Amino acid sequence: AATPSRRYSITLLPGDGIGPEVISVAKNVLKLAGSLEGIEFSFQEMPMGGCAFDLAGVPLPEETLSAAKQSDAVLLGAIGGYKWDNNEKHLKPETGLLQLRQGLNVFANLRPATVLPQLVDASTLKKEVAEGVDIMVVRELTGGIYFGKPRGFGTNESGEEIGFNTEVYATHEVDRIARVAFETARKRHGKLCSVDKANVLEASMFWRKRVTAIAAEYPDIELSHMYVDNAAMQLVRNPKQFDTIVTNNIFGDILSDEASMITGSIGMLPSASLGASGPGVFEPIHGSAPDIAGQDKANPLATVLSAAMLLKYGLGEEKAAKRIENAVQDTLNKGFRTGDIYSAGTKLVGCNEMGEEVLKSVDSSV
Ligand code: ATP
Ligand code: MG
Repeated sequence: AATPSRRYSITLLPGDGIGPEVISVAKNVLKLAGSLEGIEFSFQEMPMGGCAFDLAGVPLPEETLSAAKQSDAVLLGAIGGYKWDNNEKHLKPETGLLQLRQGLNVFANLRPATVLPQLVDASTLKKEVAEGVDIMVVRELTGGIYFGKPRGFGTNESGEEIGFNTEVYATHEVDRIARVAFETARKRHGKLCSVDKANVLEASMFWRKRVTAIAAEYPDIELSHMYVDNAAMQLVRNPKQFDTIVTNNIFGDILSDEASMITGSIGMLPSASLGASGPGVFEPIHGSAPDIAGQDKANPLATVLSAAMLLKYGLGEEKAAKRIENAVQDTLNKGFRTGDIYSAGTKLVGCNEMGEEVLKSVDSSV
């Protein structure tokens, strides 16, 4: 083999449930795809989530966060499960995720919704509508109404009880998410749709003004704007019109879930959370699936595709990323399916065998 010219350190956070099973597969795929492109990885596995809670009493131990901060990228499995749902300390393993995102200052969440030709029938939409859908939702993750102040409970002038939250975006917050979105569109098909509610909300008017200003830096990208109510409708009416979508925290929360349901394949969907610099966090969108954990039934492809996003959006290693994406397509073309995507006439395999098949394809895919 050629001498590796590029080295990266990767923090692996397998987590709970099916997390360790899918991370083990994705790690091997990453290693092989990398070595074929002259990349060498060093992996460090750290506890996070319920397992860290059992081990150290907290969902995100300090050593885990500092290892993550020092690495080039973080690949995460899934966290949580029945076992920790009602503990006496009332600590949820999922709070570790929020702490990790804050600790790494990742403010952009990228979630693709791609209807693969082999899995069109899994879509919740009619075949003609679903075929060829390939959308990336870029969601602002650390600002907006989920974090804005003032917030809380109180009473209004007439003494009635109220609850309230505040939508706030500052210039630097919109500018940086807009830049991530334009860069993402550039790595995809060159079209960006910014979704807001600028006909009603000042925070949205400001959002639109800043996105439009940043567009001047990206004359090669075709920018459009859409109101969120219309976007929610268009996503199910004609999703193929979208390439990359950028939107605020709350609209992105809703639209990214809506977009992912179009594909109907939760075991296939990756995600990335990126900051301005420093390591990104790459993870499948599915949970720890405790109902199938430890049974070699999990679909590892969402995590394998998260490893491809790690290469493409985290390290800028697009050739190695393409190798993995091609290998997943190839494996599906050969008819291999885990239980969640199985249909008559295909070959049912477990998590490990699916991993072995992807490895074979990585080796032979160009
Ligand atoms: P969350 O953890 O997001 O709060 P949840 O626990 O309901 O939600 P998941 O853990 O994603 O969601 O599981 C939802 C269903 O999808 C379960 O029946 C699970 O078995 C199935 N599932 C999730 N991920 C996979 C996968 N990778 N392969 C196969 N089935 C999966
Ligand atoms: Mg779960």
